[in-house]
Amino acid sequence: MPLQILVDEEKCIGCGKCAEICPKAAKIWKVGSVARILDLRYCHVCTLCAMECPTDCIKIIRPGEEA
Ligand code: SF4
Ligand code: SF4
Repeated sequence: MPLQILVDEEKCIGCGKCAEICPKAAKIWKVGSVARILDLRYCHVCTLCAMECPTDCIKIIRPGEEA
């Protein structure tokens, strides 16, 4: 499995903190009423987005890990 970042849309409040802290936000995140991933090729897997999310709804699955 390639890198995946899953956003639990039931829990996401669209606050944009994931995109605010992400060094490559413009290429990776699009935040409307919920946050969506555009393109993970630019992700460094720094995990800042997941740590910053106030509702803990971002799950990062590294290549080779089980979902
Ligand atoms: S892990 Fe880092 S680079 Fe990847 S989306 Fe999250 S904040 Fe951005
Ligand atoms: S930080 Fe979490 S709750 Fe806020 S927009 Fe991003 S994914 Fe949604």
